[in-house]
Amino acid sequence: MTNLLSRRRALMFAAPALFALPALAEEAVHAAKPRPKAKPKGKAAPAAPAAEAHPPAAAAHHAAPSVPPEEALERLMSGNARYVAGQSSHPNSSLARRAQVAAAQAPFAVILACADSRVAPELIFDQGLGDLFTVRVAGNVVDDAVLASIEYSVIHLGSTLVMVLGHERCGAVRATADALAGKGDPADQGTRIAALAGLIAPAVRTVPPGAVDTVDAAISLNAARTAQEIFAQSAPLRARVLAGQLKIVAARYDLDDGRVSPARGGPTA
Ligand SMILES: [Zn+2]
Repeated sequence: MTNLLSRRRALMFAAPALFALPALAEEAVHAAKPRPKAKPKGKAAPAAPAAEAHPPAAAAHHAAPSVPPEEALERLMSGNARYVAGQSSHPNSSLARRAQVAAAQAPFAVILACADSRVAPELIFDQGLGDLFTVRVAGNVVDDAVLASIEYSVIHLGSTLVMVLGHERCGAVRATADALAGKGDPADQGTRIAALAGLIAPAVRTVPPGAVDTVDAAISLNAARTAQEIFAQSAPLRARVLAGQLKIVAARYDLDDGRVSPARGGPTA
């Protein structure tokens, strides 16, 4: 039974790579990192490297969508169910898989998660190498660098699902709530932690008065707000959502039982 399931999963997870336009994905990967120079250049020639990185005829490196957005979400939630039950199958972690994705990647989903050490996306969704394009930052907030990373995976690698993942007892959200309540930690003075709190603060401020647990309510609101920000700030991603080619969802992770559940308020949740 286990072998049969493993084989099924292996087939299921191998499939996207077969029809994900590996050539385009590979080009995108190469475009993203410095290419080896053909020969040492003499004086600076700024036009040449730019032309090399963006060949005019191949400027549009749009990857084909990996799987329908609904299927991408189903894969994540199935993996989470295995993880919750203690039945993780650790797919796509073999040497063969490593070799397969070394040349090109086609991650089916982007996960924007908190940097918290207990919220490791590949583990909690029971996925493997090349499955998830993972962006992590404390408080799962979005700034230009984060948004660019998400856009890259959707547009160039074919990801069809973006999940913003908050989590129970998030220290970044708690620190923000404390700072807004005038109880900031003096140890944070002189750090950039206030800048992070500035991105989380709008969600904390929208917690209704009288909430039983302000931090817990803010965690869901923060994930939902970040998902909405991604939708609002990126015209290309918005167009894909409206065309049914992409889902942007907000979710939260329960540290105690390992379960991922929807956080209300995401643009396509
Ligand atoms: Zn956190």
